[in-house]
Amino acid sequence: MALSEFAARRRRVSAAFGSLKIDGLIACSAPNVRYLTGFTGSNGMALVWRGGAVLFTDPRYGIQAASEVDCAVRVVRGPLQSALTKAAARRGLRRMGFEEGRLTLKAYREIEASLGLGVTLEPAEALLQTLRTVKSAGEIELVRRSVQLNSDAFTRAMAKVRPGMSEAEVAAEIDYQMRLLGAEGPAFDTIVAAGPRSAMPHAQPSSNSIRRNQLLLIDMGASREGYASDMTRMTFLGRPGPPVRRMYKAVLEAQLAAIDAVRPSAKAGDVDRAARRVLRAHGLEKMFVHSTGHGLGLEIHEGPRLAKGVATPIEAGMTITVEPGVYLEGVGGIRIEDTVVVTSSGCEVLTPTSKELLVL
Ligand code: ZN
Ligand code: ZN
Repeated sequence: MALSEFAARRRRVSAAFGSLKIDGLIACSAPNVRYLTGFTGSNGMALVWRGGAVLFTDPRYGIQAASEVDCAVRVVRGPLQSALTKAAARRGLRRMGFEEGRLTLKAYREIEASLGLGVTLEPAEALLQTLRTVKSAGEIELVRRSVQLNSDAFTRAMAKVRPGMSEAEVAAEIDYQMRLLGAEGPAFDTIVAAGPRSAMPHAQPSSNSIRRNQLLLIDMGASREGYASDMTRMTFLGRPGPPVRRMYKAVLEAQLAAIDAVRPSAKAGDVDRAARRVLRAHGLEKMFVHSTGHGLGLEIHEGPRLAKGVATPIEAGMTITVEPGVYLEGVGGIRIEDTVVVTSSGCEVLTPTSKELLVL
């Protein structure tokens, strides 16, 4: 990614300072620090003002920061926040935006205590969240590469799945294949849930073994070059009977209807409604217990939320998941999830993996 992309992001962020009546911004969370500066280390704080920025980190990351970051870097021995607030004071910054949903109370108090008299902290996280929902061409390419890797890992791992393997073994195989293909790791804990356990949308892989004639739900995502992918596929070891096939068809129909509803000018809630409408027609709406999707990028869950009544406009450049599901206690669950990118006329499904029920 061109270094100037980070500078362009900082310009966009500081251009919005007026709307919040702030004159500086403090970023502490790794994803936001990375978004604003390119720094990928675990200990960094960024100070952004109109016309400049400094990344603060500790000596372990000195060399790395110098190669990743396109703004000033200050390597600090001791607490980063006191170096940051001193730099803010030198520039005369008075109203500092911060990430109210990310900071611990302890960190907040430490920053507050080191601020000069009359300097205030103002909630400004929404500013970063909103900017991050719309991806640049470079970011879309990174999401695309992450999605491709994830689907390749799925294909390789599925070739090894046999009855008798435990859910945990399948999850480990998936994570292993991701690593071999060049991922930093999974973007979230891989979900492998067999039989009735698949009725829990976020089941932890257990030592239970996978048996024949059971649904097997796999929800997986890779983190590659910092960007997340997310996909859910269903497999069946054996021959699925008519009830499973019917339920699968209904979820697929809901997923396709929701994908169809993704376009600029639609609202996030419209996409959710499209999925729900199909499931209602099949009498399955009550079993659809989560929202239809979410944005993803540097993090697995970003804005917008595709849920009931959400008025956020869908915009070209957003990368989002579409993932309706139905869950029947004691029987199992079915979810189908793709990662898509919003285009000027609709959307492009990035996930290349077939949506046929995979029968092994
Ligand atoms: Zn998922
Ligand atoms: Zn998801």
